[in-house]
Amino acid sequence: MPRYPSPARSADGLSPAVYSSLLSLAEESGHEVFALNVGDTYLEPPHAARVQRLADAPHPGLHRYADVRGEPALIEAIVADHARRGLPIDRERLQITAGGTSGLDVAARTLLEPGDELILLAPYWPLIRGIVRATGAQPVELPLFTELRKPGFDLRATLEGALTERTAAIYVNSPNNPTGVVLNDDEIAIIADFADEHGLWVLSDEAYERLGFESDARPRLPTVWTHPTLLDRTVVMHTLSKSFALAGARIGYLHGPTPVMQRIAGLNTFTNYCAARPMQLAAARALSPDSDAWLAEARARYRAAAEQTAKALRIPVPEGGTFVFFNTRPYLHKGETPEALLERCARAGVVLTPGVVAGAAYRSWARLCFTCVPPSVLTRALATLQRLLYAGHP
Ligand code: PLP
Repeated sequence: MPRYPSPARSADGLSPAVYSSLLSLAEESGHEVFALNVGDTYLEPPHAARVQRLADAPHPGLHRYADVRGEPALIEAIVADHARRGLPIDRERLQITAGGTSGLDVAARTLLEPGDELILLAPYWPLIRGIVRATGAQPVELPLFTELRKPGFDLRATLEGALTERTAAIYVNSPNNPTGVVLNDDEIAIIADFADEHGLWVLSDEAYERLGFESDARPRLPTVWTHPTLLDRTVVMHTLSKSFALAGARIGYLHGPTPVMQRIAGLNTFTNYCAARPMQLAAARALSPDSDAWLAEARARYRAAAEQTAKALRIPVPEGGTFVFFNTRPYLHKGETPEALLERCARAGVVLTPGVVAGAAYRSWARLCFTCVPPSVLTRALATLQRLLYAGHP
């Protein structure tokens, strides 16, 4: 059956405007534009990892292909970094990818078949839904991170409620984009038992693994994939985008059980072939212990921004990540829809991400990135937002 001129149905609804079409409203407004919908940072990466600094060292063949599994210098740096953090990984189980996004794409296409279902713990990072749909599998949204800590919430029963005979995998992202929730050990254990009992793959998204706002009470973040039950059923995605302010470098990596990593290496070869060699070398430098001070400083700044934002919006401080997620319902004017409220904000220059892109249950919610602008700009943005939200609301 000829398909022309229709593209494949698996590409239906995938749009580069996933985050927001509100920016143009803000740009046309004549006000200062605060694009708080972009999940990025105002910081420059650690000195040694900046592209300018690559020129300092002789790199023969800098512009040639890299090894398909990854540049040896980067693989060594990752193995050493994980060992240093007490999260050892085997270099044979590693695959460097062109950013976390392509890593998750390759992992999803390796684990899922058309007709499968993947439980998508919501709210979620908006691109993951499209990544899963493009495989032909069905993402099954399960509102969780906003409910988890409510009295009486039963995590196990909630997970069971999303299960069908077609469920093949579950996607877990902690620290979570957009809520900033960090799963604790008990919650991870429940997810691990659930995945184990029902024979599910786990796709663990560690994009914010170094951006937990640890306290003395919890000096280290719990990690999902290191749970003993999960080690052999989890494909883990890491990226340097968030931890080291290297989003434009497009460097990430996957690891998981050997047989599936062999398939992942194959699929990655047939799609991305390799990540950019110069940026892999930059990433290797970012992972050196010399970056510790940079990272501590970045985390302290992000934490201060998180606290400032949470206070301005009268919501709890996120436990990690670069976002807050809040319900706009209390701030709607009479008869106003959530979409209209976000347009009102955009017309005053403040662009937020509509919550619905993080899950169908979140139409009245909004996501704000508190790391994408410097502190002085964030202060102005929050003052504008407060005026918009609290006018008429004491
Ligand atoms: N996973 C989550 C939870 C994210 O927030 C992001 C980026 O925002 C990614 C994955 C993708 O990261 P990358 O920039 O490395 O593609």
